[in-house]
Amino acid sequence: MSDKPIPHGTTTGYSRYKCRCEGCKAAYVAYKRRYREANREAIAERDRRYREANGEAIAERDRRYYEANREAVLERRHRYYEANREAIAERMRSYHKAAGDQINARSQRRNALTRDNATRAWMPWTAEEDAVVMDYDLTTIEAASILKRTLKAVNRRRHFLNAAVGVAS
Ligand SMILES: [Zn+2]
Repeated sequence: MSDKPIPHGTTTGYSRYKCRCEGCKAAYVAYKRRYREANREAIAERDRRYREANGEAIAERDRRYYEANREAVLERRHRYYEANREAIAERMRSYHKAAGDQINARSQRRNALTRDNATRAWMPWTAEEDAVVMDYDLTTIEAASILKRTLKAVNRRRHFLNAAVGVAS
């Protein structure tokens, strides 16, 4: 490394010089955000593939995490859902349009994976649970695992909530 001063407030400062001052951190955060925005689709696709390949291990890890942080997670997701209700419904509509048949076939197969954990089956749905159901950053199987409900129940609830905001699914 040279004797040049660290260029604070830059991603170079953050990555190359490992500086963690406010300016360098802010530059790095802004960079990451721009990157995510520019590569939204590719990132979603990569995550989807990863989840498909590692579904059960992820579900188990998530289940442990959510059990330890249940309140905070539900609260965060509830706020997110409230703030993005329409956009979520729209995303859901185009998602189903594109992949309806595969989703249904896969749901049938995977429902079996959620049955043993479904200790909250048939219990009334809470607003916090609805927020998890409508969180499309989660797969339905993850939502089922978090909520201790069957995959089928989560799917039914999603359809019901979408219908409530005028989305056919
Ligand atoms: Zn710095």
